[in-house]
Amino acid sequence: LRIFLCYSTPCVAAGADRVRKVLDELITEHTLAAELEIVATGCMGPCSRGPLLRLRHANGSESLYEQVEPEQARALLLEALDEPSSEGGTAQALALDMPFFARQTRIVLSNNSEIDPENLDHALARGSYGALSKVLQDMTPADVCAEITRSGLRGRGGGGYPAGVKWELVRKSPAERKYVVANGDEGDPGAYMDRTIMESDPHRLLESMAIAGYAVGAEQGYLYVRGEYPLAAARLVKAIKAAERRGLLGSRVLGSNFNFRVDLRVGAGAFVCGEETALMVSIMGRRGQPVPRPPYPAQSGLWGMPTLINNVETFANVAPIIAKGADWFASFGTEKSKGTKVFALCGEVVNSGLIEVPMGISLRDIVFDVGGGLPEEGRFKAAQTGGPSGGCIPADHLDTPVDYESLQQLGSIMGSGGLIVMNDRSCMPDVAKFFVEFCRDESCGKCVPCRVGTLEMYQIMERITKGSANMHDLELLEDLCDLVQETSLCGLGMTAPNPVHNTLQYFRDEYLAHIRDKH
Ligand code: SF4
Repeated sequence: LRIFLCYSTPCVAAGADRVRKVLDELITEHTLAAELEIVATGCMGPCSRGPLLRLRHANGSESLYEQVEPEQARALLLEALDEPSSEGGTAQALALDMPFFARQTRIVLSNNSEIDPENLDHALARGSYGALSKVLQDMTPADVCAEITRSGLRGRGGGGYPAGVKWELVRKSPAERKYVVANGDEGDPGAYMDRTIMESDPHRLLESMAIAGYAVGAEQGYLYVRGEYPLAAARLVKAIKAAERRGLLGSRVLGSNFNFRVDLRVGAGAFVCGEETALMVSIMGRRGQPVPRPPYPAQSGLWGMPTLINNVETFANVAPIIAKGADWFASFGTEKSKGTKVFALCGEVVNSGLIEVPMGISLRDIVFDVGGGLPEEGRFKAAQTGGPSGGCIPADHLDTPVDYESLQQLGSIMGSGGLIVMNDRSCMPDVAKFFVEFCRDESCGKCVPCRVGTLEMYQIMERITKGSANMHDLELLEDLCDLVQETSLCGLGMTAPNPVHNTLQYFRDEYLAHIRDKH
């Protein structure tokens, strides 16, 4: 019998540590420590149903239980040990063949529910650092870049830029030093994909960064983690130390001539530091504000040196691509969007949680199959993707394939992976106002169009949603959106009008209803 207890942030918040304490006590009481191991794993997926406990029996069969109370966990374990107890009550089992699990394809999250992220041996047993060993023994840096290009991997942080092209640019930029940066400053409301990857499988990320370092010629990597992610940061620190002790990072990696060191930088809570130029300024110890591009980081990044910067999820795809090959990876997804995408599925949906699905799956399948539809027979109104830079996809487009180009055509973006489902009680101008307010609060204030424009946009949205706006306000709002989009310095300002543009495109009648109601 093996016991897997989800020990990621949502399950810990729901009481996983209390469950663990009771199980530890029971194992000690029964002097079973030699035979029974509790694996405190990363995220298992159905995050709203924690604490989650999975039992793997000697015959290989598995059972997964949700919202497990400590006494229920005790009863489950006693039952598995053939000592059934009438106390504690029965925990609710989740069907492992339900579409929430069956429709997913796990590449990035493949180790999540199998390993203790704080145990390097668990990661090694699942093949971690095998891809790094392969590149050091059998591949040239150019081979590695070519393999990433051939796989079709695109940036998972929002832009969808081809990863291999970026790697090749950095590789070919001559310099005395180069850097690799993993962007873990995920800040979109409702999104926690990168947090989960860092918490659940830190060695995957470190291995992939080392592969990138070898490919582009960098000996130093930085991991920039959002300040609000203390568990992720703590696990990464442990993982870095463990990898260094075993010669998997540091000098002469795996006995080769390649040196690669990774340092952690923890952000201070500014959303704008997810923007790559602001992030690098922050790593260099200055106030995290964006700077104009070009030059791009691939030519001049950290301390003026060529810098490869990718988002955490992008890196998490690298080790599997090298281990299993570009063709294998490219067999998932669509012609232009290869592989899978991790989404934080939340809002008005039965199965909210962290999911990984092949690119090209329809939005309908995500919401109604993987997500189990809306609770209380609510009617689907829209799905918001892309956070404050994205938009809302209405019910008419439920059959749209979820890939970079299709979402863009609908006026939204893939973004980093937040996916919020809304029912027909949601007020779309209110939704847009929420994101405008978010951008207003997070604007770094460096450039006037964003600093003043988002404030003005918010004030008009406030008048609209309170019913005190007139048609002139609406015209002003649309002009202002165009202006902020065209003249802001960085992506935060340029995309801040997207939720307004997009909701006006699909739900203009709701704006007009608010205005007409008053006048
Ligand atoms: Fe700062 Fe906004 Fe200008 Fe970006 S667009 S530099 S966040 S003020």
